Amino acid sequence: LVTLPTVPLFGLRVVSAAPDAVIEDLLTGGAQCRVAFVNAHCANVMARDPAYAAALQTAGRVLPDGIGVEQAARMNGVEIAANLNGTDFVPQLLRGAAARGRSVFLFGAAPGVAAAAAARLVRDIPTLRIAGHRDGFDGAADTDAAIADINASGADILLVALGVPAQDVWLDRHADRLHPGLTLGVGALFDFLGG
Ligand code: UDP
Repeated sequence: LVTLPTVPLFGLRVVSAAPDAVIEDLLTGGAQCRVAFVNAHCANVMARDPAYAAALQTAGRVLPDGIGVEQAARMNGVEIAANLNGTDFVPQLLRGAAARGRSVFLFGAAPGVAAAAAARLVRDIPTLRIAGHRDGFDGAADTDAAIADINASGADILLVALGVPAQDVWLDRHADRLHPGLTLGVGALFDFLGG
């Protein structure tokens, strides 16, 4: 298992490595790994939401999302090797997943959006295996049903788009019950892909 370099920021250990190295790390790790992206907005939410702060502090990997994090780091005298902007990074990660035959489940966003995002991903990455999708409004109301759906799909990777802080707190709270080996909170990614 590769140990990714990190830098201290917002009281977290934020990954500072090239996208390829991070993808390799995430797709070769053995134990279950929960990934959180942090941007400048997340740092503000963290300050007033202890459950969210705890979810970030205990995440397996915290990835820097956006130019604001790079700037905040620089102001604290540290350089982040690469901005792993979620909208670019997650599709790259899924290319690597497809090459390894891994499947992905998309959970979150308004009705129809996760399905549209899945369709868009398959258009861009034809070999990607979609294990399933479920919206984040009606679909999120029944946590037991959502977890059952995700686990029954056999997905290797779970993307959760319920917004900050809900998605990262949800993944933290239910980690023990979730079968996918790799889970990521992905914000508005499905809207970006499916819109
Ligand atoms: N979302 C959801 N259920 C909710 C609230 C939000 O599925 O109860 C979805 C929303 O539709 C969007 C995603 O969460 O696809 C991210 O929402 P937002 O842009 O508010 O969050 P951020 O980008 O700040 O994480």
